[in-house]
Amino acid sequence: MLKILKSIKSIFVHIRSSLKFIFLLIISTVIIVGIISLVYRPMYSVSLDGEFIGYTTNKSKLQKRINEYIENTDGNVAFIDVKSLPEYSLCLLKKEGQTNDDEIFERIKNSGTTYYEYYAIVEKSEEKYYVSTKKEAENIINKLKEKKSRNIDDLGYTKIHSTELKDFKDTESIITALYQKPKVVIASAYSTYSGEKIVSNATPVAQVLGIGLIKPVSGIITSRFGVRSSGNHKGLDIATSAGTTVAAAAGGKVIFSGWDSYGLGYCVKISHGNGVTTVYGHCSKLYVTSGQTVSAGEAIAAVGSTGNSTGPHLHLEIRVNGAPQNPQLYLYK
Ligand SMILES: [Zn+2]
Repeated sequence: MLKILKSIKSIFVHIRSSLKFIFLLIISTVIIVGIISLVYRPMYSVSLDGEFIGYTTNKSKLQKRINEYIENTDGNVAFIDVKSLPEYSLCLLKKEGQTNDDEIFERIKNSGTTYYEYYAIVEKSEEKYYVSTKKEAENIINKLKEKKSRNIDDLGYTKIHSTELKDFKDTESIITALYQKPKVVIASAYSTYSGEKIVSNATPVAQVLGIGLIKPVSGIITSRFGVRSSGNHKGLDIATSAGTTVAAAAGGKVIFSGWDSYGLGYCVKISHGNGVTTVYGHCSKLYVTSGQTVSAGEAIAAVGSTGNSTGPHLHLEIRVNGAPQNPQLYLYK
């Protein structure tokens, strides 16, 4: 019995000395950590592409600042391309050791390339002026179109992606700089071609065409149908500004749309049935293709001065069974 009590006592003594030891260990650890934290503090050593660039105590704040810089799309910044991102590793540094968040940020900023997005107003594919938004660019082109600027066919805009940001000009001064007074439609805009060889048996009076015709364009008659010094003029010349829409005089089938080698330049021919054909010459643009069916009034081309022509006008022919008739017997009377 006594033996058992003795052994229990010795166990207690043993536990007590162990607890004392553990307690001392904790105290000493706290003291050591306390001393270390008086002199040192945890920090992040920052490196970029393996090269040490500085220390920071606040990794998340610094990274947030970098992220905000990269994701910045203010103004005309499209995106920022940073070659590599910083790497952080935890370390202890003496308290008086310097952190340099600002320098680290500048280093990363300088390693980045900023791409800008903006718009260029172009004239004959040459960048002339720069604006910030697509809306401004559209507005400029539309205003110049409304004002019938003479160079409108040469004007446009294009989106620019560049590391270089250009000086932007305001809408009004760009319009003023680019605007060209529309060419006054002069009485000398007519066809000078001698013509496709066609038997000329035009009737002096209007025939019953069996179809109604509408004016393809409005304008000034600059040359009438008939004999003139340099051969026969097989059509009627109606001068108006280049780019004006040419409407089909009546519904029918496009039998030709392309370059006329006899001098009509870009030309459309439409067959309306009943042997009636209409011809539209000297166009700047063709909107239809051969074989296509068009309805009366449909946009088929734009007025121009291609082929043998002295200025923008529409050369209109009305043919019956291949023979050109005087258009003024039917239209523009
Ligand atoms: Zn003509």
